[in-house]
Amino acid sequence: MNNSREKKLKKKIGDNTKKIIGTLIIALMILIVSIISDMFPEQVNNYIESDLNIPVNETNAITVSTLESTVVTSDSELKIYYFDVGQADSELIIADDKVMLIDAGNAEDGSNLAKYIKALGVKKIDYLVGTHAHEDHIGGMEQIVKSFDIGMIYMPDVSTTTRTYENLLEAISKKGLGVSSVEIGDTIPVGSGVCTVMNVRNDEQDDLNDTSICLHFVYGENKFLFMGDASENMEKEIEWPEVDVLKVGHHGSSTSSSEDFLSQTKPKVAIISCGVNNTYGHPNEDALKRLENIGAEIYRTDKDGTILLTSNGSTYNIQTIKTNIDGNESTSNKSENTVEDEENKAA
Ligand SMILES: [Zn+2]
Repeated sequence: MNNSREKKLKKKIGDNTKKIIGTLIIALMILIVSIISDMFPEQVNNYIESDLNIPVNETNAITVSTLESTVVTSDSELKIYYFDVGQADSELIIADDKVMLIDAGNAEDGSNLAKYIKALGVKKIDYLVGTHAHEDHIGGMEQIVKSFDIGMIYMPDVSTTTRTYENLLEAISKKGLGVSSVEIGDTIPVGSGVCTVMNVRNDEQDDLNDTSICLHFVYGENKFLFMGDASENMEKEIEWPEVDVLKVGHHGSSTSSSEDFLSQTKPKVAIISCGVNNTYGHPNEDALKRLENIGAEIYRTDKDGTILLTSNGSTYNIQTIKTNIDGNESTSNKSENTVEDEENKAA
């Protein structure tokens, strides 16, 4: 009996020793893995080059210590599409599980834009912002309203009598929705990010451009400005924060992106939405110079196509992709391939 108990006891001790050694080995392996991963920090996302042979630019990937980030967790994700919609404007923010669309291009872009956004897996646009009532910003919005489940719609409280504007209002009301106006300082949470209204004018202006809703979006350590078509008139009214990425006001026009505004915002990246050989001469040479002088890396939808920014809240990366959303582009029927092309690339 005693012998058998002793054996059992020995066996038990033997088992326990094995367990302890096993645990120690696992702990040692975890330690080694963590040391190795510290030595080789996670690489900035590398994107596969598109079939257009547009080199993916990684020089502007900026690393900020994740320790400072309190809002965004490591598995958060931000995507901002600065769509190539020709001589027009449209930007899509996908922040975690929330979606904001700022402007929707010309009327001719609406259907391609809706198709493209659907192919990204977006079912609901939580926040739809028409920066101002010009056709190159709200033209495609009627189609967007018809195509998606929509949360809130924001526009300046300034109406026009254009057919585009009236069609949009009709589509909105047919869906049982309404348009809300915003005031300076209003905040809109988008996922774990926050959008703040920096400037807007809700009364009649000589130029509708100067009613533009200007948005400051902060996601973790990354900061963005979306200026609509605001001119220097709106720029000089308030103080601006420093940002990483500026969606340049009014397609790079001479009357926007003033020196004073740029010296406050100090954008590292400037994105200009404009059409190839547009009749307005956008972007203006002097405006480009001012952006260069502040040290901003400039992207243009007429040259680079759609610009896609991705971020985990600390590190962001920019790539350019071909999307063929611009409905004004007369060449063949290439818009038919748009969505499929992008899906293939994403796969
Ligand atoms: Zn415009």
